[in-house]
Amino acid sequence: MPSMSKEINSFEIVKGLIDTSVKKLNLNRAVYDILTEPQRVLTVTIPVQMDDGSLRVFTGYRSQHNNALGPYKGGIRFHHEVNMDEVKALSAWMTLKCAVMNVPYGGGKGGVIVNHKELSPGELERLCRGYIRAIAPVLGSEIDVPAPDVGTNGQAMAWMMDEFSRYRNHNEFGVITGKPVMLGGSLGRLEATSRGCVFTIREAAKATGLKLKDATVAVQGFGNVGAIAARLLQQEDGCRILAVGDSGGAIYNPRGLDIKALEEHKSCTGSVKEFPGARSVTGEELLALSCDILVPAALENQITAENAGQIKAKIVAEGANGPTTPEADRILAARKVLVLPDVLANAGGVTVSYFEWVQNNSGYYWCEDEVNQRLERKMVEAFNEVFCLYQKRKDVDMRGAAYMVAISHLAEAMRVRGWLGSQVYADAKCDYKLA
Ligand code: GLU
Repeated sequence: MPSMSKEINSFEIVKGLIDTSVKKLNLNRAVYDILTEPQRVLTVTIPVQMDDGSLRVFTGYRSQHNNALGPYKGGIRFHHEVNMDEVKALSAWMTLKCAVMNVPYGGGKGGVIVNHKELSPGELERLCRGYIRAIAPVLGSEIDVPAPDVGTNGQAMAWMMDEFSRYRNHNEFGVITGKPVMLGGSLGRLEATSRGCVFTIREAAKATGLKLKDATVAVQGFGNVGAIAARLLQQEDGCRILAVGDSGGAIYNPRGLDIKALEEHKSCTGSVKEFPGARSVTGEELLALSCDILVPAALENQITAENAGQIKAKIVAEGANGPTTPEADRILAARKVLVLPDVLANAGGVTVSYFEWVQNNSGYYWCEDEVNQRLERKMVEAFNEVFCLYQKRKDVDMRGAAYMVAISHLAEAMRVRGWLGSQVYADAKCDYKLA
């Protein structure tokens, strides 16, 4: 996988995209000023006793970007490349994502600089508990609600929810989502990001006349999002998954990979590489494969000005946050590749997090079919709103349209709250409803 994340600053990228949309919507500059800085960013140090008796001090962050539409909401990332600007960018994307989806949340994100694969289960538990204790003063089910992200999972959420409940002296299930089902998690949450991504792919395929049966797919990233998206596309839509890559390597089989068997292979060996019957390819070759659908489901800044010209897929569905740079967006748009942007395509996760929180707050739990049906309704509605605007305006791509939908929702919420003073629109003729 290309490792360009260092040179490209995701927070500068998101600010540029917000700037463009605020101008296109003809909104007052105050909207830009508010949305381009988080409302609060907390930096914490977390001392953790290691198994060998030594002490390591980790650095963590929580960025609370905007709460105009509801409590801050967003995952916690454990990764060695975490930095404050990345966390700020990811928190801004959460604000936009929840606003596109009409989910009543703001945006937040947390991160800890750590290679979680190097820690023992005991060390990981102590790090999860230490991190949540450090940020506990700014959390709460009506204040800020974390969830899993890259490098964290349901077990981590269980430890964090347990630690927070001790801090508050009562069980607070709704403070964290993505929990194990036994501890107030929602059925369908584990698959939700991937399922949401598949729903947007289905809508895009309908809209563009692409038949999903036997459609060819390449997936970059074989963690929770990429692996389950590949499995659903294969099992439910009859797609042929040609290639899959993870941090250990990438593999290719022109006849298609058996995703269930590949998931077992990865759980035994830790990587997709050396999967029987497939040949190994580089990360760059995977992105450039001849296929109908490319799903980047790893990290930020993978599709760049350097490789966008080689992409042959008709649809790029962003399972990851921020995988495509603005230069790459322009190259893909010129080549008529339809990019389903992260704030829409991977919004299934936070949407089912919202369902989990609703279930926690009401104490009544839904069956998996109900979760999936409600998710489908939300994804199709949001896709249609974004796609209609994209078709109507000739001057935006799908990402531009999604940002305009999100920012119009946010601007209206901030206006009625009184955050923007008396003047909202730079030009009184602006129609924020985009109709
Ligand atoms: N980390 C996921 C995301 O980036 C899920 C966030 C959540 O469920 O709050 O969308």
